[in-house]
Amino acid sequence: MSSATEVILLGTSGGPRWRRDRAGVASALVVGDAAYLVDCGYGTGRQMIRAGLGLDRLRGLFVTHLHSDHTIDFFSLLLFGWYEKLEGVERPVVALGPGDRGRVPPASPHLLTPPATICSDSPTPGLAEMTRHLTRAFATDINDRLRDNLRRHPDDLLVARDIALPQDVPFDPDHRPCPRMRPFQIYEDDRVRVSATLVQHAPVAPAFAFRFDTDEGSVVFSGDTGVCENLIELAADADVLVHEVIDEQWVHRQYEGGRTEQQRSMIDHHLTAHTAIPDTGRVAERAGVRILALNHFVPGELESPRWEEAAKEFSGTLVVGQDLDRIPLRRA
Ligand SMILES: [Zn+2]
Repeated sequence: MSSATEVILLGTSGGPRWRRDRAGVASALVVGDAAYLVDCGYGTGRQMIRAGLGLDRLRGLFVTHLHSDHTIDFFSLLLFGWYEKLEGVERPVVALGPGDRGRVPPASPHLLTPPATICSDSPTPGLAEMTRHLTRAFATDINDRLRDNLRRHPDDLLVARDIALPQDVPFDPDHRPCPRMRPFQIYEDDRVRVSATLVQHAPVAPAFAFRFDTDEGSVVFSGDTGVCENLIELAADADVLVHEVIDEQWVHRQYEGGRTEQQRSMIDHHLTAHTAIPDTGRVAERAGVRILALNHFVPGELESPRWEEAAKEFSGTLVVGQDLDRIPLRRA
């Protein structure tokens, strides 16, 4: 068992797609025999097994936002985790993520008729409510495993809670999804202290970035975000910044350089909710981090020399992340 304090990039692909060469976005921070997950995109459990990371080491699971490419394997960590050592956890794994958005996002001005709302009695559940919905949806399987396979009760293995924003943060999901704010602490144990801040991924809100401080160093996970001062403050002087990235030239190609108003608005949307390649380097430089590790690649092709261009704006070490890359927090 590795005792190094290190980040493992379990999956590095962005977007709700299956890719043959990258798993969905998920990262682990390993501190001695404890492990913490940030996001759980497609293939998270399998990537943990491939990384030699038994689920009995898992203490916390931190969900940046509730897009499916960050959450699709959330509940499989419980349902399959039963058979992958999750039952070995001493205490229930604490899952922390966004609360209820409160209302559906405004309809795009390009929609002639707003669509019917899905699940209108609870159209934007937060992580805790989502977990209750999922537990109900899988009740047939869960009751069978409890009675026939003598599995431990889900409540003993995983507890999901919404992250409560500090009262003085003027958050509004439609009008102020990312107000300027100070980082605030959301979790602490004998290995890590975890802080959060709001980031810019509207209309998805709340969307968080997380910082983990350990005795060996610190790491920040951007989640999905455009360039945002809150993130730069959160990442100040961190050892490692794991940051999402989008190829801005690809965005322009996808929408034909913005020939129509709708195409221009899609380009704007992608480039304010995500971070262009040179901007990832600028953010890392301003935050003063030692290592910038790119993940959540959009598009997800492996073989693009474009990603390396982030280094032009950054004087530290750039890691163009690959699945299962390990990055020690402590300076070599
Ligand atoms: Zn997203």
